[in-house]
Amino acid sequence: MAENASTTRDTTKDPIKASELDPKFKYKLIKRHGSEKLLKCFQCGTCTSDCPIARYSDSYRPRTLIHMARLGLKDRVLKSDTLWLCAACFTCTDRCPQDVEVASVIRVLRNMAAEEGIVPQVFKDQCASVLETGYAYKIPDLRLKKRETLGLPPLPKGNPESVKKSLKGVNFVNYVKNQGETDAKQ
Ligand code: SF4
Ligand code: SF4
Repeated sequence: MAENASTTRDTTKDPIKASELDPKFKYKLIKRHGSEKLLKCFQCGTCTSDCPIARYSDSYRPRTLIHMARLGLKDRVLKSDTLWLCAACFTCTDRCPQDVEVASVIRVLRNMAAEEGIVPQVFKDQCASVLETGYAYKIPDLRLKKRETLGLPPLPKGNPESVKKSLKGVNFVNYVKNQGETDAKQ
């Protein structure tokens, strides 16, 4: 599949070119709620060593994402698929000796990526499913029938209208709609 503007991949190990550096990026980041202390990071690695996802992933390293963001590797960090592996457990935030809110910085970076339409397809599909069915995953008819044959009670109906109402305030509905239109053009 050809790479497009919204494609994510593991960008953390590519050689760095000077032309990639955006010196203003870190200053944009520290204006966002949750990223204010980013510049206090002194790269000790505590966030990575305590991260439960880094323990099981060859590529996910919160320290690396923080370092890339500080260096100004904006495109690379926003297009990194590892950005989306964080489980938001906040262990890193609790343990950072410099009080960097690592999990919040990652949330801010994800929000910035989403604002630029850079979101892995699996999450786009989940967003669309939440709006359509009230569930993050569409439950196949086959599985529903299987429940019946096993004598299990029917699953509660999702309430997509209520979900849409709740998510209007955070612009989620527009985001999913715009993404659908963008994807259809590609
Ligand atoms: S624990 Fe804090 S200071 Fe250490 S690398 Fe992570 S963000 Fe930086
Ligand atoms: S919040 Fe994310 S980066 Fe921090 S320890 Fe948990 S999974 Fe790792």
